[in-house]
Amino acid sequence: MMERTGRQLETKLIHAGEPSPLIEGAVSMPIFQSATFEYRGEQDYHSLRYIRLNNTPNHDALHQKLAAIENAEAALVTSSGMAAIATTLLALLGAGDHLLAQNCLYGGTYGLLVNDFPLLGIGVDFIDGNRPSDWQPRLKPRTRVIYVETIANPLIEIADLKAVVEFAKTHHLISVIDNTFASPVNFRPSEWGFDLSLHSCTKYLNGHSDIVAGAVIGRASLIEKINRKLAHLGGALDPHACFLLQRGLKTLAVRVRHQNQTALKIARFLEAHPAIEAINYLGLERHPNHARARELFDGFGGMLSFELRGGVKEAEEFIARLSLPISAPSLGGVESLITRPAATSHAGLSAAERLRARIADRLIRLSVGLESADDLIEDLDRALEQG
Ligand code: PLP
Repeated sequence: MMERTGRQLETKLIHAGEPSPLIEGAVSMPIFQSATFEYRGEQDYHSLRYIRLNNTPNHDALHQKLAAIENAEAALVTSSGMAAIATTLLALLGAGDHLLAQNCLYGGTYGLLVNDFPLLGIGVDFIDGNRPSDWQPRLKPRTRVIYVETIANPLIEIADLKAVVEFAKTHHLISVIDNTFASPVNFRPSEWGFDLSLHSCTKYLNGHSDIVAGAVIGRASLIEKINRKLAHLGGALDPHACFLLQRGLKTLAVRVRHQNQTALKIARFLEAHPAIEAINYLGLERHPNHARARELFDGFGGMLSFELRGGVKEAEEFIARLSLPISAPSLGGVESLITRPAATSHAGLSAAERLRARIADRLIRLSVGLESADDLIEDLDRALEQG
């Protein structure tokens, strides 16, 4: 039986990791909703098949597909994006160790680093992702990891990712990147030398806003270490959620490419509208990281943020006037989601911290879905005109 393989992302999304031969001829991977599996003479604990050990047929299929789509050696799935982040960092760092982390992280990650890590004796220093010359003075004898995000939220900026990889190589650090916002369609970290890529699969990878899941993708030796930590921390993904994630992944390329296109159309519309005072989208020539995005990415993404004339009140009234985008945090789903980060994703920061991070209270973030671009623009236009 010839295995179905292909070199292009679209083909891998459909066929990589799928059972061969097909199980009972089933075209779709069945769900193995079984906590444990018959003992077959396995010689060590981690080879026993058990959902928490992350090694049921549903896990194996997903792991192969995820590694294939980022052109990486190995992958594993977790019960949430935060489980992927926490388990990875706890596998790589222990008491007395230290990491460098980008200074504008997803709020949950930031909270983990500043609230929980000190209790475990793990030190952190924050760095500006665009000032590589500032990084070296922050190194400590036991700095082990450098941690960044592909696209910083909510200002939609890209750090000097090539410098991050270089710096990690020079100083023998493990480079870790949260690739959630870009998705493997637009950026594949291992192709640029990152050791590990993390995802909240809750977002683009699943794409339907109906599960919470995470993934770690990268070097096989590290993935094995993280998988062992996961077995102890207990953040395995349930087989039913594995099934949904595997189904969602199959349409990742068509979804994200369409979202790239629609987001660019919306960004151009907003850029030209007199009520808009600031717009952040990587596909616009005026964005300070536009050239970097062109060099590193295959697409500019489905995320944008903007500021309207006026303040918080005007921003909230505008969101309330929209009929299509749903006002909710999260991103990467088939439905457009709109939110005011100061009230949701970045509510955990103090006003002073938000100011330092240049996140205006009136800033609005849009995750572009799969609705018609024309309908979305018409809706935005009407809501702006009524303001
Ligand atoms: N990383 C990024 C960039 C995110 O936006 C999020 C969630 O919003 C996470 C990680 C955490 O993922 P999860 O909610 O799946 O735990």
